[in-house]
Amino acid sequence: QVVTRFAPSPTGFLHIGGARTALFNWLYARHHGGRALLRIEDTDRKRSTPEAIDAILDGLAWLGLEWDDDVVFQSERGARHVEIAEQLLAAGHAYKCYATPEELEEMRAAQRAAKQPLRYDGRWRDRDPADAPLGAPYVVRLKTPNEGETVIEDRVQGRVTVRNEELDDYVLLRADGTPTYMLAVVVDDHDMGVTHVIRGDDHLNNAFRQLPIYRAMNWPEPSYAHIPLIHGSDGAKLSKRHGALGAETYRDEFGILPEALFNYLLRLGWGHGDREEITREEAIALFDLDGVGKSPSRFDLKKLQNLNGHYIREADDARLAKLVADRMGTNADEALLAQAMPVLKTRARDLDELAEGAAFLFKTRPLALTEKAETLLDGDARAILGRIADRLRAEKNWTIEALEATTKSLAEELELGLGKLAQPMRAALTGTTTSPGIFDVLVLLGREEALARIDAQTA
Ligand code: GLU
Repeated sequence: QVVTRFAPSPTGFLHIGGARTALFNWLYARHHGGRALLRIEDTDRKRSTPEAIDAILDGLAWLGLEWDDDVVFQSERGARHVEIAEQLLAAGHAYKCYATPEELEEMRAAQRAAKQPLRYDGRWRDRDPADAPLGAPYVVRLKTPNEGETVIEDRVQGRVTVRNEELDDYVLLRADGTPTYMLAVVVDDHDMGVTHVIRGDDHLNNAFRQLPIYRAMNWPEPSYAHIPLIHGSDGAKLSKRHGALGAETYRDEFGILPEALFNYLLRLGWGHGDREEITREEAIALFDLDGVGKSPSRFDLKKLQNLNGHYIREADDARLAKLVADRMGTNADEALLAQAMPVLKTRARDLDELAEGAAFLFKTRPLALTEKAETLLDGDARAILGRIADRLRAEKNWTIEALEATTKSLAEELELGLGKLAQPMRAALTGTTTSPGIFDVLVLLGREEALARIDAQTA
């Protein structure tokens, strides 16, 4: 059975890259009928905060990525990590290194001077621990292979080979007895039964350092898939400037729907032909690692917004009304918003545009007019508006069709284009120069309010 995991370090929010890694892990497990697990890598107690953990859990829940089993907190597994280090030590796969920090600094200075790679030179690898001064502090290092090479058949990167002499005997347990990150990841992945490690390609080097632990412990090795990082639209590494923001920023500030971000993240590095719009169900059916590209993908906010517009048009009106009402605050009537939604959502690309479009519904009389709207009432516009008001008042059927017919016949009588009537109406009814179709506006406002708004401009 396939078991994947998403293993964020809670040192910040759930950024776009992390969200995509989470999504790929989740989809791979769902596609294969396996399990998707979540592990919070909070061993760096100083940098991990409860707020960051909450932001990550919240962001994942918002995206609809639910995880199997309980969340694993790496910080709670320290004893198990130490236990494995001790087993490695007892079996001769690890050793105690008594080199002092000063000594190691000297070693590196010499390597630097000789233009060699900076790497622990294995000075205690074969040395008799009895050489160490009594009670001297030590770290535990992994005995990594020195000869040959290690090959990884990465599901995304293809075959990657590293010469083993390049692998250093890195630290498993620090001098204070605490386990290192590199050890913790492997032990946790093994204990959680992880079969597929899908993560950013900034971790590819770590895979070569982590494999020797699996081999020393005789544990089954996972399959690796290292996905390329996300770049900004200018090709540079993604930064805040490009939109490397938390999922909650897309929700709260950009007014993005979770299904739009889901679809966008999916398409960011994975493709199925040239399909842009892919639902969650289709994604589960279609996703596999073969579709993940090898080159970095570029983050494009416009594309995200276009997809968002698509999902807004697909979304249930009552749901949108609630989301928009929350953004608009106190006086927004959800029922009225829901009624207006079919008209409002035809053009909006985010929830703020929906809210902007809906604003006219909740304005109070007398309406404050924008400068442009004022100019639509210049000349004989107010007189025309008066004629319109008379006709509308006489109209018994307050429906789009009836109102349109009435207004059109008046336009013909006055020998004016319909626009000459619609524009002052728009200004009077919405206080602006852009709005949904004018007859939609009349119906949404209702007879009484619409006539009162027009009257307010003709008096
Ligand atoms: N905690 C690591 C990170 O947030 C991921 C480790 C892993 O996936 O192996 O970058």
